[in-house]
Formats: sequence, C-alpha cells, structure tokens
Amino acid sequence: MPRWPPPWSEIDDPGVLAAIARVPRHRFVPPEYQDQAYEDHPLPIGFGQTISQPFVVALMTQLLDLAPAARVLEIGTGCGYQTAILAELAQTVYTVEVISDLARHAEARLAALGYDNIHFRTGNGWEGWPEAAPFDGIVVTAAASDWPPALIDQLAEGGSLVIPVGPAGWDQELWQATKMEGFLVKRRLGPVRFVPLVAGPPDRGDL
Ligand code: SAH
Repeated sequence: MPRWPPPWSEIDDPGVLAAIARVPRHRFVPPEYQDQAYEDHPLPIGFGQTISQPFVVALMTQLLDLAPAARVLEIGTGCGYQTAILAELAQTVYTVEVISDLARHAEARLAALGYDNIHFRTGNGWEGWPEAAPFDGIVVTAAASDWPPALIDQLAEGGSLVIPVGPAGWDQELWQATKMEGFLVKRRLGPVRFVPLVAGPPDRGDL
C-alpha cells in the first residue's frame, strides 16, 4: 500500500494531515476502485462525478484555515470524502449536493462512520445555505463559471472562500478569497480540473 498520506511538500498543517490519515478513503470509493483508494488521483463515483484527488482535498482544506469552532459550508458533497475531512476539523459542517442520490448515499455513509456534526441539503449550491450563514469557511468542490454572489455574501469577516473558477472542462484556476473589512482579497493558486458546478438540479436524463 502507498504511504498515507503521501509526502506532500505543500501541505504542512498538522491538523489537515492528521485528518487525511484518519478518514478511511476506501469507504468512499466504489468497489471496483478499492485497490486505488489510497493513490493520489481522482476516481469515478457514479453519475458522471468524481471523488477529488486527495492532494487537492488537503490543499483546499488547508486554505480554509479552520479553527476548531468553525462553521463551514461545502458545495458539492459528492461521495462525502471532503465533507468527512471538514467534519474532523470544524465544529459544524453544512454541505449541499445537487444530485439527490449522491446526497443520500453520502449522508448514510457519513452517519455510519459516526459523524454527527454534518448538516445535509439537496439543492443548488449557487444559493449557498442562507439560513445557516455566515460561515467561517466555504469550499466549492466543482468549477464555477463565475464567482457565486450568494457565497460571497454568506462568508463571515475573516473567512475564506476556496473555489475553482473557470469554464467546464478547461482553463480553471483555484482561488482563495478572504473577506477583509467587507472586501474580498483574492489569491490565485494555479490551474486545476474539476467537474462543472451546474446551474441547477439535473433532468434525470442528464445523469
Ligand atoms: N467533494 C466531492 C467532490 C465531488 S465532484 C468528493 O470528493 O466526492 C463535485 C460535486 O459537485 C458533484 O457531486 C456534483 O454533483 C456537485 N455539484 C455540481 N453542481 C452543483 C451545484 N450547483 N450545487 C451543488 N452541488 C453541485
């Protein structure tokens, strides 16, 4: 089995590394990919979606810089792996997924693993979760064609939004945007490749 977590030179937050070491990634990966669960690349999870590469999960989590009392919002629950990493580090996690079957499975899986600090919602993540705002951190695990205004509104002062922005399939950049005195201070981290943040719930025919 490969060394876990891998020796990533960019990840130096001990809390993030400990969370990656603790969460059993094989529990989030379909049976046919079990042998690759601890390799550092994305894998299919059904419905045309993927579980993100562990390095990218670690990097995005480190960029959120979560305090133990943090309330964090995740857009794109997928299989729930990033959700579990967040639940290890933050006090409360709110997660939104547009594909109801993925949301349902992730909720059952995370309950079975014993997490009791996660709130789930099926819906369109572009709207965030206004009733639970503000959030100390917001992470978007699908690429947005543009900056979602609702997520910027729902970010607390001093909190960071970590988000891939760019067109579907290509030319996406990972950003960290921190709210300082009401303004966003943006930092561009580099090129990434994510599935698109869709405009809304899919027709069943899209799946
Ligand atoms: N963190 C997840 C990543 C899954 S891929 C994991 O590691 O498994 C991105 C997810 O974003 C997919 O599950 C996709 O269905 C979801 N998604 C895409 N557009 C969305 C939207 N508008 N609102 C909420 N979720 C969305």
